[in-house]
Amino acid sequence: MSKGFLLVISGPSGIGKGTICKRLFERNKDLVFSISATTREPRRGEIDGVNYFFIDEEKFSEMIKNNEFLEYAHVHSNRYGTPKRFVDEQVERGEIVILEIDVQGALQVRDLYPEAVLIFLIPPSLDELKRRIIKRGTETEDDMKIRLNNALKELKYVNKYDYAIINDELDDAIKRIETVIEAEKLKSKRFEYNLDNIKGL
Ligand code: ADP
Ligand code: 5GP
Repeated sequence: MSKGFLLVISGPSGIGKGTICKRLFERNKDLVFSISATTREPRRGEIDGVNYFFIDEEKFSEMIKNNEFLEYAHVHSNRYGTPKRFVDEQVERGEIVILEIDVQGALQVRDLYPEAVLIFLIPPSLDELKRRIIKRGTETEDDMKIRLNNALKELKYVNKYDYAIINDELDDAIKRIETVIEAEKLKSKRFEYNLDNIKGL
């Protein structure tokens, strides 16, 4: 018996957050993914309501006004936000909810949900990060520059997170995250104490 909690995964663009989250869900059916809203255009293959809720500026502003976001931020050249109601309902049900969000959002979550667990993914090197962004090939030259420039700023926030995990070998990084999740589940503060669950008492 364990209480639900938020697991924030951040890290610079191209570090492998999307790849890692996809694999985490394939391997751990009990994890729940929070789908963010964004004003960014969908990339090839991205599906509305699966990868993101793709919305326009007007709708985004309306959601802010109606207090529908748990957190939101301007990232790179667009706006991104976490719809609040879904996340709260899932945590209430005892689920572990993954938020793949940027540093600004993570710091807001840390203040609002002190029980949240924050993981920062680190590149093995800046050159490797560049190679990964280029390999993905979804950004224009200008957008790639913005993302690399922001990466340097974001990396300075690593100490605000609970865990720092280097994404060198994909399988190793995933296993380290799973280790964190298992340990966090066992934290005594998350244990729902019920004498009926303890045999022999
Ligand atoms: P993010 O979601 O953080 O922006 P992506 O998941 O889109 O990053 O990954 C960017 C690129 O890096 C993709 O082409 C992905 O296949 C590759 N990648 C992710 N993790 C690794 C890794 N550990 N080793 C090599 N390439 C990786
Ligand atoms: P991308 O455009 O590559 O999908 O995401 C760009 C950045 O926005 C990434 O750092 C990603 O983690 C972040 N992001 C995605 N969704 C959210 C969100 O709901 N809130 C915040 N603050 N950042 C988000």
